[in-house]
Amino acid sequence: MRNSASKTMLDIDACVLTHVGNVRTNNEDSVRLVRPNGEEVLASHGVLTVLADGMGGHEGGELASSLAVEALARAYYHADAAPGDALEQALREASLEIYAASREDAALRGMGTTCVAAAICEDQLWWAWVGDSRLYLLRGGQIYRLSEDHTVVHEMVQRGLLTDEEAFEHPDRSVLSRALGSRAEVEPSAADYPIQLNPGDRLLLCSDGLHDLMTDAEMASLAVEPEVQVGAKALLQAALDRGGFDNVSLALLEVCIRTPGARPPVITREFAIQ
Ligand code: CA
Repeated sequence: MRNSASKTMLDIDACVLTHVGNVRTNNEDSVRLVRPNGEEVLASHGVLTVLADGMGGHEGGELASSLAVEALARAYYHADAAPGDALEQALREASLEIYAASREDAALRGMGTTCVAAAICEDQLWWAWVGDSRLYLLRGGQIYRLSEDHTVVHEMVQRGLLTDEEAFEHPDRSVLSRALGSRAEVEPSAADYPIQLNPGDRLLLCSDGLHDLMTDAEMASLAVEPEVQVGAKALLQAALDRGGFDNVSLALLEVCIRTPGARPPVITREFAIQ
């Protein structure tokens, strides 16, 4: 364990991007970074990044993903539980809320969304997810996938019926086996224990509009640009250059050392680049 003096030194730089892509007319992704003011909140529940990729008709997908990020953030910061349990609880509550909304309007029936959430609490990373939006850790030149897709195709990989390469090309690779809000109940996946973060570690959250178009190694090579803003834009641009068939969303975070009196952390929220 680190001592408490070093724990308070960590902070983050972040760049959050979401883009409609080259083909779709609406953006059904939602992404949000929440950094509450106040040391007490930061110490207990930290900085939350949440990304959701909705589905279910023109209005449904947009609504489902925006409800997910809002409901998840609200439930997470109000949960009287440790961060890992709070994230799982918040995903369940978000699912109930989306499902309830879908029952009120026939046009919204069947809407649902993926959702991946990462909480940085002092120097610990907690995470949980439903669906195929992903979380990666970039450390020491390596990229580690911290989430496992809830897709039918990935389950076939786990059972040894397909290889990773076959899954990457599979026409049904986006068919989800779990989603938030499609039914009232959902079983989230979550980290069993937190990862200890070090300065220089980066986190990447992204929708399939990005990871469907490039390998993990390709993403890693773009995400290591010296500034997170540059890295995030390079990832988005690469997805657009490769067709941008889907909405593209990502959040790239870097753990840095907070020096008293130094510049505040850089957190960019942009909705589009040209
Ligand atoms: Ca998508």
